[in-house]
Amino acid sequence: MAERYDVIIVGTGAGGGTLAHTLAPSGKRILLLERGDFLPRESENWEPDPVFIEGRYISEDTWYDADGKAFQPQVHYFVGGATKMYGAALYRLRPEDFGELKHVDGVSPAWPLSYDDFEPWYTKAEWLYQVHGNHGEDPTEGTWSKQYPFPAVSHEPRIQQLSDDLTAAGYHPYHAPCGIMLNEAHRAMSTCIRCTWCDGYPCLVHAKSDAESIAVRPILDEPNVTLLVNAEVTRLVTDASGGAVTSVVVSRDGAEETYEADIVALSAGATNTAKILLSSANDQHPNGLANGSDQVGRNYMFHNSKAVVALSKEPNDTVFQKTLALNDFYLGAKDYDFPVGQIQMVGKSNAEAMKGEEPLLTKFAPHFTLAETARHVVDFWLTTEDIASPDNRVTLDGDGNVHLSYKSNNDEEADRLYHELKQLLNHAGMADHHVLQKNFYMHMSIPIAGVAHQVGTCRFGDDPGTSVLDPNCKAHELDNLYVVDTSFFPSIGAVNPALTAMANAMRVGAHLTERLG
Ligand SMILES: Cc1cc2nc3c(=O)[nH]c(=O)nc-3n(C[C@H](O)[C@H](O)[C@H](O)COP(=O)(O)OP(=O)(O)OC[C@H]3O[C@@H](n4cnc5c(N)ncnc54)[C@H](O)[C@@H]3O)c2cc1C
Repeated sequence: MAERYDVIIVGTGAGGGTLAHTLAPSGKRILLLERGDFLPRESENWEPDPVFIEGRYISEDTWYDADGKAFQPQVHYFVGGATKMYGAALYRLRPEDFGELKHVDGVSPAWPLSYDDFEPWYTKAEWLYQVHGNHGEDPTEGTWSKQYPFPAVSHEPRIQQLSDDLTAAGYHPYHAPCGIMLNEAHRAMSTCIRCTWCDGYPCLVHAKSDAESIAVRPILDEPNVTLLVNAEVTRLVTDASGGAVTSVVVSRDGAEETYEADIVALSAGATNTAKILLSSANDQHPNGLANGSDQVGRNYMFHNSKAVVALSKEPNDTVFQKTLALNDFYLGAKDYDFPVGQIQMVGKSNAEAMKGEEPLLTKFAPHFTLAETARHVVDFWLTTEDIASPDNRVTLDGDGNVHLSYKSNNDEEADRLYHELKQLLNHAGMADHHVLQKNFYMHMSIPIAGVAHQVGTCRFGDDPGTSVLDPNCKAHELDNLYVVDTSFFPSIGAVNPALTAMANAMRVGAHLTERLG
């Protein structure tokens, strides 16, 4: 007979791990099913070669694009999910992101809840994930009920100089919110500095506020919490009416196992959650579970992003570079009525990472060795919102393989943001310091395999005809099925998505605690 729990949570990342942490004190019996294992703590965690060139922590999955071309998605199957690799920049969406926003290529839809509805949960998530930041600096941020639990991480000299120059030029740079357990990081600093501030690397000393360290590990000793690793959920089974999930089918150690629960919460990541629902088609749900609206898998978004390096004569010896962000163009720009996006710093380039990420790009490093080039760059991450489109979607072929069709939109806005960055650097005193006569910028757009910011595929909403989930993130069509990963986003905004997934998981967790009595 299948083992029975009060709640089964599928996936232990930003959504699933945080939900488990929220539900654990209820005493309800919780089963966490995680496809991956614990990420090994090993010297390679901090080595650019294994991480960036060999892709040591990237899954071996093969997905296919719209033309049927195979690619290896940059997904990470571990306890903690993508947060094991994330940069831990934990931003709130702006209040305007919760309403309709007109973009050059269409309208970004409104959420069924407002920023004010989310605000208390953002605060709780910032405290749980030990975010360092300074509310009140960024003019575009919404109201906040409580300051961050820790002060902002201070800029290193080169970034402080950039911040001062930008402020003098009339811009509004602010301290990026960082999820880091700084005391532990400080203790380990002599080795910690090698990972250039968490971005893209797992943290050997567990000082990064990821879902494993913050949410999952602390509850593993609780008698009501069970975690099964290397347990891939393949499908969900419903009762005869199709109104409720009765069991969860798992592939583990080459065998098929079945588990039952009163509540099932999917949090396998936007693509894999859609995959599980589509794989669970049955007579009552012929197009996939919870898919009467034909919305499961649709509206996939992942940001129209560019990684940009500005090369200057002045060396940039910053180690922790991801401390500055700027939203001056978030809602528009001079003589431009559409939202343009966010500028933030990204992990500091080093020679190996540059080689691994963009072999062609590294050829353009005149008069420098690659290492010397890396030393002189300042690295930016530009994010423009991409709009939900029904044709940007996850589907499965007859063998159950994932096909990801995606056509970018808002490219004009993304180009405008790049233009604004160039202007900004000229105004910020970097023009005088370039080795080349003119500014020398290199940029790359993120290809389809860069699924780090994947969201959408099961959006929440009031209307069962146009959404998969209700405002509590319960499937409209099933009484006991919830989704708490980034699938629920109706729009993505132009800031990184993890904090919103964490805040939402805490919100849904409070709802479930009440429901379970
Ligand atoms: C390199 C990198 C840098 C990033 N930097 C940032 C950042 O600075 N700030 C930010 O906000 N966001 C960042 N992100 C994105 C952020 O990590 C994700 O938005 C967030 O983790 C998504 O949460 P999730 O719960 O939807 O999915 P995940 O965190 O990916 O969790 C999904 C979990 O489900 C498991 N799973 C998948 N399929 C199955 C299955 N069939 N059965 C069982 N388990 C399954 C996976 O193994 C995983 O543990 C970054 C991501 C990457 C990869």
